[in-house]
Amino acid sequence: MQSKKLLIALLIFTSILSCKDDEKEKIEEVPLQTFVEPEGIKEFGFNLNDYIVKRDTIKSGDSFGVILERNNLGYPKIFQIAERAKDTFDITKLQVGKPYTLLCAKDSIQTPRCFIYQPNKEEYVVVNFHDSIHAYTSRKPIKYVEKVATGTISSNISEALEKQGLSPRLAFKMADEIYAWTIDFRRLQPGDRFKVIYTDKYIDDSIYAGVHNIKAAFFEHNKEPFYAFQFETDSTKGIKDYFNEEAKNLRRAFLKMPVKYGRLSSRYNLKRRIAYYGYKIRPHKGTDFAAPVGTEIMATANGTVTESRRKGGNGNYVKIRHNATYSTQYLHMSRRKVKVGDYVKQGDVIGWVGMTGNTGGPHVCYRFWKNGKQVDPFREKLPEAEPISDSLKVRYLEYIKPIRTQLDNILFEEQEPEIELAIEDDIIS
Ligand SMILES: [Zn+2]
Repeated sequence: MQSKKLLIALLIFTSILSCKDDEKEKIEEVPLQTFVEPEGIKEFGFNLNDYIVKRDTIKSGDSFGVILERNNLGYPKIFQIAERAKDTFDITKLQVGKPYTLLCAKDSIQTPRCFIYQPNKEEYVVVNFHDSIHAYTSRKPIKYVEKVATGTISSNISEALEKQGLSPRLAFKMADEIYAWTIDFRRLQPGDRFKVIYTDKYIDDSIYAGVHNIKAAFFEHNKEPFYAFQFETDSTKGIKDYFNEEAKNLRRAFLKMPVKYGRLSSRYNLKRRIAYYGYKIRPHKGTDFAAPVGTEIMATANGTVTESRRKGGNGNYVKIRHNATYSTQYLHMSRRKVKVGDYVKQGDVIGWVGMTGNTGGPHVCYRFWKNGKQVDPFREKLPEAEPISDSLKVRYLEYIKPIRTQLDNILFEEQEPEIELAIEDDIIS
């Protein structure tokens, strides 16, 4: 049941926010095995029935020569192979943990005929030394399968998440790429629900290689609908973005905060009173994010550095002009990484958290300037990134029509009572 799986995946996300399943290639420790493949099995372009197939992973201390010698090939031959193959395949680059396959003759000593190394899930390198010696790199065929999933957020089924097997990557993509600026996934409400049209990636027809892409999504948060459609705005550069049903970009020109992990320690507050100053009003026109000294500080939007220096209570600081309306400023850095005139992109590191200037602890004081005045970025309706051009808009609205119909026709699970029951069973067990 796809929908159930996704619901569960999303709940994994809400509790532990992790995409480790897909991000790191999992390398299984397969002991060296010799076995006869079933009739007609083809892999790497070879008919495996013609050989004795030995599979293993590169172990520490292994080298191309060591492996072949262990499998009854003599050193003069090994040198010859390595020499001939070197333009295609650098035999010194074998990485511990990566799988390899030896195709061996069905003779008494099982003479190796072919060495196949897999540096990643998709690519493989063949060193064939059956008659003549030749080497080449190839790719396994990749297949994309479009799927749909739906889910409803509740709070008590996290136990059942993992055994459902749908990729947490899907939830991660929704939270981090599509709705990062519109929905706070840490504050989802029970009853929030979603539908998603996405593609899964398969290698060799059958090996699941994770969620490839989300084509469109619908998220109902606090009864409010949020549509998202992926659309390519620049085909030469391959730039894709998500837009809503009115062609508004879902991304914002600014990141919410200038540090990846930091605690909002003091908000913009014009009426702040501080004991140290005799409880006089000392307005705080910045937003403080506490983070350890040395934490990377990022530009929250693209722009040009207009100030980078050390001065009084600000300590080491950087100021960036984003456009005629907005500038941002980052205070108390331990070190600055950019200089006046540098062009920085959203997310670029511009310095590191410190305690320079007037500060009681390590934090970055983030100041948000609009038309020359400091404002509270949390109360600003921030501009969207890269609005769609008028000419593209027409094409976009045409493009999303059938996709929106498809989304709208996907039923939520609560519209299918028997599935709802199935979920209940899972919770109990
Ligand atoms: Zn501050």
